Amino acid sequence: AKTPRARTFFDGQWHDGSPTLIGPGSHAMWLGSSVFDGARWFEGLSPDLDLHCARVNRSAAAMGLDPFVAASEIERLALDGIKGFDGETAIYIRPMYWAEGGGFMGVPADPATTRFCLYLHESPMMEPTGFTLGLSPFRRPSIEVAPTDAKAGCLYPNSGRAILEAQKRGFDNALLLDMNGNVAETATSNVFIAKDGVVLTPVPNGCFLAGITRARIIDLLRSSGVEVIEKTLKPSDFETADEIFSTGNHSKVVPVTRYEGTSFQPGPFYRKARELYWQFAKGAGHSD
Ligand code: PMP
Repeated sequence: AKTPRARTFFDGQWHDGSPTLIGPGSHAMWLGSSVFDGARWFEGLSPDLDLHCARVNRSAAAMGLDPFVAASEIERLALDGIKGFDGETAIYIRPMYWAEGGGFMGVPADPATTRFCLYLHESPMMEPTGFTLGLSPFRRPSIEVAPTDAKAGCLYPNSGRAILEAQKRGFDNALLLDMNGNVAETATSNVFIAKDGVVLTPVPNGCFLAGITRARIIDLLRSSGVEVIEKTLKPSDFETADEIFSTGNHSKVVPVTRYEGTSFQPGPFYRKARELYWQFAKGAGHSD
């Protein structure tokens, strides 16, 4: 039998594919109350799945939703759901919460109407060739102007327009600054540079997602004796860097091959970070 390319857990059951779960009356469709997280399963490994499941519950709480599925239960559901695939392809694991109804004038999400689903879909892990980055005219919002403490769907149109603008200028992805003009992250991942033998990455300040992969890579590099400094970085630091690389759950560690007019080669710090991540994943991995 052909195995599904996607499976969705909703309301106590698994469904093949991507079933319709919301309608025009839904708060999520009207006012964007969805939160999500993303984790990976590949070759029997699912590094930091527990942390991604815990974060989706924090994101839900930050958006005024009720995270009614325990993180450990989301993790168990994900590992169970993966058994419905053929085991050859890598999987993207996406737990989500949203609200059906709202409070005053319909605007705040009504936590009593929170829904949960877990969407799994096939998504191969590629050996990264790297990507190019353009400096975006768009910026990351701060906590005063957007719910940046949640990994919320409503934050992504800003990433979307940044990518479109970068693509118009021939780049793959965008480097976004925060409200103060310091480097925050790419439209889809965290960024690191290497310079003079030291690895540098922006200090978390509430304007960007201080990712789970970012934290893991900082830890692994430091444990292996590499100096990693969280520091306020300017776009000019990227022009003079020896290496630029990016981290995120989807592709883990990926080199940047061009930033605006400057070209880069995948370097030793990128390779070390990627190698350490795979060693960690194998050591911490789930076997089923
Ligand atoms: N920043 C943004 C905007 C992202 O979408 C992601 C991917 N979730 C990241 C950073 C990386 O975070 P993580 O390592 O937790 O996936």
